Amino acid sequence: MLGKLARWLSLLGYDIIYSGVIDDDELVREAKNSQRIILTRDTKLIEMYPETPALLIKSTNLWEQLREVIRVYKLDFSETAFSRCSNCNVEIEPVDKEEVAEHLPPLVRQTQEKIYRCPKCGKLYWEASHVDHIRLLLKEHLNIDLKNRQHR
Ligand SMILES: [Zn+2]
Repeated sequence: MLGKLARWLSLLGYDIIYSGVIDDDELVREAKNSQRIILTRDTKLIEMYPETPALLIKSTNLWEQLREVIRVYKLDFSETAFSRCSNCNVEIEPVDKEEVAEHLPPLVRQTQEKIYRCPKCGKLYWEASHVDHIRLLLKEHLNIDLKNRQHR
């Protein structure tokens, strides 16, 4: 149910595992082992495992959810945003543009200098309109100004 929130947090550079189908014991164990915080809409889960770091997400609105997480954990993602692969959640790495040139759309090849690659799935990233779009959404919904910057 929090898939969208998970994707956004990943986009902002946070190390997120999302699972809609995991049983509570396993989830709590995984959170403990990997020192992650649980974000959930499940009140029972929070009550059953009071010593597990977790945040109960009450709103069903993505922007309210995101605002809540940012507020509670005082998140500052100005240095981390857009640093992870949206598929794999691993950090993307700068790559020599010439090396991947044949895989780039012509316009990107002409206009972008810094290209990044996911070491896991090989997906290529560059500063592009989708980043501008994300920046606009953050400004509009959360009043957050993300600096104009390259991935890293
Ligand atoms: Zn990837």
